[in-house]
Amino acid sequence: MPSVKKMLAYNQTWSSKVKQESPDFFKTIAQAQSPEILWIGCSDSRVGPDQLGGLPMGSLFVHRNIANIFATNDLNSLAVLEYAIDELKVPNIVVCGHYGCGGIHAALEHSGVQPVDLWLDQVRFVYNRHAKELKKLPREQRAKRLSELNVEAQVHNICRNTIVREAWKRGQEVSVFGLIFDIQDGLLKQLGIEFRSSEQWQARYGEAFSD
Ligand SMILES: [Zn+2]
Repeated sequence: MPSVKKMLAYNQTWSSKVKQESPDFFKTIAQAQSPEILWIGCSDSRVGPDQLGGLPMGSLFVHRNIANIFATNDLNSLAVLEYAIDELKVPNIVVCGHYGCGGIHAALEHSGVQPVDLWLDQVRFVYNRHAKELKKLPREQRAKRLSELNVEAQVHNICRNTIVREAWKRGQEVSVFGLIFDIQDGLLKQLGIEFRSSEQWQARYGEAFSD
């Protein structure tokens, strides 16, 4: 059976089962969403946040793209962040990278002018900033480390964005985390990247806000 047909058949069974167990479930979630986490992850089919986080429907507001990039010149990323923070008041933002990321490997191996190559320039900027450290590492280790550094860079892009800075300034609860998913063992790993205020972020990066 083709995959979409299989999915439609599964959906019928799933919907009936949920309604049987909790008759008001869909009526309740149809009213409004109040997600606890804005998830910024890779489009890779093996890193679906609902599955690996074990969270129920309505928990995650999700933005995914190749190599989990939060690009400050990307209207899509910015609109997601603005809606999540200003409208939904989501209290947590997670940037999650993963080992074995095709985007990270592609950024390391070649460059070009196709859309994917241009998108991955943002990972190459991260590589160039840390080239000295990365060049010393063997190939596989280099890709893993670049995945981690890329998460850190995207967290940095989020924290220095006006949308988050303004939220912190008015006392809104926003915590930003950087995580890595290891496809080899299915575990999410913390990277020691966690910011709850502009002061914490400034203390780490030594950058001053202009306001
Ligand atoms: Zn990936």
